[in-house]
Amino acid sequence: MAPICCIIPEHVLQNIIEVGQAPQHVLDACQSTIDQTKELHNTRIEHKQSLLAEQERPTFEVTEAVRHLNRTVYDAQHTSMRDPPRNKIMIEEGGALIPKEQDPSYDANECYIGFQKTYDFYLNFFNRDSIDGRGIGLDGFVHYSKGYQNAFWDGRQMIFGDGDGVLFNGFTDELDVIGHELTHGVVEYTSPLDYSFQSGALNESLADVFGIMIKQWGNDPANPQTAEQSDWLIGEGIWGKGVNGRALRDMKAPGTAYNDRRVGSDRQPGHWKNFQKLPLSEDKGGVHINSGIPNHAFYLASTLIGGYSWQTAGPIWYKALTCGKLRQNASFKEFAELTILNAGDHEDKIREAWKQVGYPFGEGRDEL
Ligand SMILES: [Zn+2]
Repeated sequence: MAPICCIIPEHVLQNIIEVGQAPQHVLDACQSTIDQTKELHNTRIEHKQSLLAEQERPTFEVTEAVRHLNRTVYDAQHTSMRDPPRNKIMIEEGGALIPKEQDPSYDANECYIGFQKTYDFYLNFFNRDSIDGRGIGLDGFVHYSKGYQNAFWDGRQMIFGDGDGVLFNGFTDELDVIGHELTHGVVEYTSPLDYSFQSGALNESLADVFGIMIKQWGNDPANPQTAEQSDWLIGEGIWGKGVNGRALRDMKAPGTAYNDRRVGSDRQPGHWKNFQKLPLSEDKGGVHINSGIPNHAFYLASTLIGGYSWQTAGPIWYKALTCGKLRQNASFKEFAELTILNAGDHEDKIREAWKQVGYPFGEGRDEL
């Protein structure tokens, strides 16, 4: 099944509805966001099929990639159509940022800048020319629907809601959110991990791993952050004012990112002993939940080695993703072993990082 790669997991929105402590219009926005996302899921399947038909995968970089950055930011004009109209371009490649009075939210500019930073991160450090490695254009839609509490990559374009203004702020100002979503595209074009159970949690984790590296480098490329300096937070600033939360996820301390009476609490484990065995109906078997385990392994690997993560653990994770040996339904154990295999001089530290989150993840638990 083709994945829906929303930054806000459905179970978070569902929980807000069940708890029922938020204002009615926010609860309504949660329900309509869930409903609209289900609708979009069908579109995504069609996109994925055409993507599969168009080219062979995976793609491997064999030559020096040339910069083909090609961004277009559209105004979705608050429609919730499956394919928003492309009749209102806000910024095209090479165009100027738009003045604040034309878009007080600054969303279009943030999307445009976030695309460039994500693109340049992959090009500069991984010799990768856009999501597909072949310079695919980056299209973004801002102001999608009304009160839509999500942002996602649908296989062809990235779409941003405005948030509800109470629990969720907008989604364009977090570089790691854009990096996360576009990385789902990279995963699709390299090792399309099934979006359920352990392979789905690996898919989610890879999106966070590259999202956090893009944040560490891209928030201030002249003064990037080392593994020690990073806050390791994904979706910092996503929560509205007064929500008791630092971020959506915390790779350094999974399970501690938020705890709010209206929203619920962060359910991510950081160790295999707390792995949550969940049915497919719940977060596709815990893809946004159990991703805390490989997320924490990446944090540990980066800090054990030290320095800039995109020069240390990042390339090892990238090799595991692009080596052509990562199976569609890979387990945590298989992924860990691929990173160890590709660790070079850092093998001991990579092994130690995985060990600290429970590697080799117990025998006889394949059903997880
Ligand atoms: Zn995701």
